[in-house]
Amino acid sequence: MPELPEVEVTRLSFADRITGARIAHLHLGKPLRWPLGAETGLLVGQRIHAVRRRGKYLLLDLDQGVLLLHLGMSGSLNFAPVQPQAGVHDHMDLETDRGVLRLHDPRRFGAVVWSAAETVDPARKLLGGLGVEPLGEDFEPRTFHAQLRQRRAPIKQVLLAGDVVVGVGNIYASEALFHAGIRPTTRASRLSAPRVQRLHTAIRQVLRRALQQGGSSLRDFVSASGQSGYFQVETAVYGRAGLPCRVCGQLVRSMVQGQRSTFYCATCQKP
Ligand code: ZN
Repeated sequence: MPELPEVEVTRLSFADRITGARIAHLHLGKPLRWPLGAETGLLVGQRIHAVRRRGKYLLLDLDQGVLLLHLGMSGSLNFAPVQPQAGVHDHMDLETDRGVLRLHDPRRFGAVVWSAAETVDPARKLLGGLGVEPLGEDFEPRTFHAQLRQRRAPIKQVLLAGDVVVGVGNIYASEALFHAGIRPTTRASRLSAPRVQRLHTAIRQVLRRALQQGGSSLRDFVSASGQSGYFQVETAVYGRAGLPCRVCGQLVRSMVQGQRSTFYCATCQKP
């Protein structure tokens, strides 16, 4: 599943090239997670002024309103001067005078949604509950601690919920908790200020590292087919159940938490 670093690298892969382009046509294939919310004709002739990211949404600022794109479980975007004929899993072609932005999404949990403004529905509904950006200035340890103190749920699930801090998905939540030495099942409200500080640092570090790796493999990520996989990050615990912990050598364990797989080292991560 694309997580925040993949979405940000996707944004960087085409933002400069599409900014200033004029939309010639929007072609939608099979239904995605939500309807567009407008006639496709409304977009024709509009100029794209910027491509921003909020959480895992990409926002294309248009003359009128904003076009929200989400990659869902399996989506990828590819921008090219010309695209090959659309395949069975290509569900959006945004044709502009500078090229075609294509959404490839086999599982169709992705979304292409137009909203008259960011502050009205559907954008408000989709973006309104999002927490702060983990790499932004608003994410700071003291506020983070104050918010976690209100939560009795396990810390991993609080991170995944995205309403305290956004975009820390399953891989990076597992990794950050490992680097912070915190067991994923620990109640968020029980974490001390020093442990929250370590978690704050770890979240930023794992995301920054993934961004750097993604940046260096950008060419692969946006290969001509637009179908290449997501980042192959070297993980400490994620996906390593039964393998020795890279720090202490004990076997990494896995469990299911809120229907998601969680990986941890019982020695390095304290309750
Ligand atoms: Zn360990």
